[in-house]
Amino acid sequence: MFTLIDLPYAPGALEPVISAQTLAFHHGKHLQAYVDNLNKLLPGSGLEGLPLEQIVAEASGPLFNNAGQVLNHEMYFTQFSPKATDSAGQIKAQIEKQWGSLDALKAEFESKGVSLFGSGWVWLQANAQGELSIAQYANADNPVAHGFKPLLTFDVWEHAYYLDYQNRRAAHLSALWQILNWEEIERRYAKSR
Ligand code: MN
Repeated sequence: MFTLIDLPYAPGALEPVISAQTLAFHHGKHLQAYVDNLNKLLPGSGLEGLPLEQIVAEASGPLFNNAGQVLNHEMYFTQFSPKATDSAGQIKAQIEKQWGSLDALKAEFESKGVSLFGSGWVWLQANAQGELSIAQYANADNPVAHGFKPLLTFDVWEHAYYLDYQNRRAAHLSALWQILNWEEIERRYAKSR
């Protein structure tokens, strides 16, 4: 039985980048619905009792969609902090090795978020050798389903930004770096090595 994660910050703590109202709907309604659907679909699937990442790796259809959305949102919400931190450690070194600078990575990340058609997610992911890449995934799809380690993600479903930014997806994506907790991304990267 999966339960809704608690947010590691107060509902208004990410304003003005993400409003308390958006957070209330996104976490309390959208993510809650994915958790409820996942719990309804698991019995009889043969995947009951497995860790979420394994369910995502093995499921298909509606079960994959809901398990994927739970995983995506858990990683999304827990990567933010009202006190953004700078990239540091291994992830900083790897980004500079591959992109030259953090700004170059941000530019590619935002561009891939803006150009993703319809609903989905843009991800920073790592392969087994620790090499990074930025990928677009539609709907509930994610790096775990493709054998990559998920590190950092921006949600480009309209429910993530429409109340605050309406159709201005690019403005929303470029603002998210202000609340990104790079210490969490570094932890995920270190764990994946
Ligand atoms: Mn979402």
